[in-house]
Amino acid sequence: MPEGSEQLEGPVQVDSPEGVGGEVRDEAVQSELDAVQAQQYERIKLRITVANLALSIALPLVFLLAGWSEELRDVVEDWSGSAAVVVLLYVLIVSLALEAFTFPLDIYSGYFVERRFGLSRSKLRLWLADWAKGETLQIVFLVGAIELIYFLLRELPGTWWLVAGAGFTLFFVVLSALAPVLLFRLFFKFEPLPDGELKDRLLALSQRLGVYVRGVYVWMLGDKTRKANAALAGWGRTRRILLADTLIEEHTTDEIEVVLAHEMAHQVHRDIWRGLIIQTALVFIALFVVHLALEAWTEPLGLRSVSDIANLPLLLLVTGAVTLVALPVANGLSRRMERAADRYALEKTGMAGPFASAMERLAKQNLSQKRPNGFVEFVLHSHPSVESRIEFAKEWARAHGKGATEIQ
Ligand SMILES: [Zn+2]
Repeated sequence: MPEGSEQLEGPVQVDSPEGVGGEVRDEAVQSELDAVQAQQYERIKLRITVANLALSIALPLVFLLAGWSEELRDVVEDWSGSAAVVVLLYVLIVSLALEAFTFPLDIYSGYFVERRFGLSRSKLRLWLADWAKGETLQIVFLVGAIELIYFLLRELPGTWWLVAGAGFTLFFVVLSALAPVLLFRLFFKFEPLPDGELKDRLLALSQRLGVYVRGVYVWMLGDKTRKANAALAGWGRTRRILLADTLIEEHTTDEIEVVLAHEMAHQVHRDIWRGLIIQTALVFIALFVVHLALEAWTEPLGLRSVSDIANLPLLLLVTGAVTLVALPVANGLSRRMERAADRYALEKTGMAGPFASAMERLAKQNLSQKRPNGFVEFVLHSHPSVESRIEFAKEWARAHGKGATEIQ
């Protein structure tokens, strides 16, 4: 997901038709099959995450310690006398070389695995075009960020990290407002929610809750994937709720209403801003730790100064390490916000049954493991597990005198 958006639920699969050749497949057997498939899918995705992580440590480490970083700096310095151009060329060359390592993992994970599990509907050409767009955008942002950092390292070696932190914060705030109208549109089509029962229900819900919803858009995921999603994105004039067409197709109106109430909760709780505050805190901490690392290790590593672009691998390693430590904290906070949004949705709609069945259906649709490994959930998951969300709804229903039998 791009910045400034909030996912209802991680990626999931549209289940196969229950009746095959007129026979109704045994539900227990089907759910067992789904669970096995979800487990296999999750295991492959986890391995890819670990491989990516290993690469992101090994590559900068080797590049730095083998002296290749300094060699590359010397080469680009022969081409240009301008410090900014040296940084630009260095970053472009390193980024393009990195693509050679990450592309095989990206295409395996994003295309072949998704196809193998029947999740992707994307043509290879379309996938490649999206991949190229995404990587180009990333390189553009990376060049901008690194140019800013090295400019400040040259000009303000003592306080650069404070100024850079302020600059990145401003960038994230602007980006999260622009993302729904600019970035998302590079990858997906959006249409206003058409008139009909769903729109009427949504308007009635927003009136009942006293929540003003600026816009609800259908997020056209269906030509790319079978997975479903919903999100609140943007702020100010760009704030909107996004509902995947795959979600609308597969879920009942009651289920969609309770999902909408969950998204409205994020709006009421100002979760986009809370997310930005967490992100800002992490950026400042990471930059400060980078500052300490550059001060301490520039000399022992035989580099010229803190503003020597040859120290970029060190900067990336330290940022990566801080991110890794911060990940469980950030995800823990995110899971708390998700739980609060679930509670709001249940309290405002009272629809524990549709909530539970929506979760069940999303898990099936997106092939998510209902009960992931505890450690994996603690570190990597931004949402509570499906099982715990359903359990929470059941407990809520019991506490509010709604018979547990209401929940299928
Ligand atoms: Zn949510």
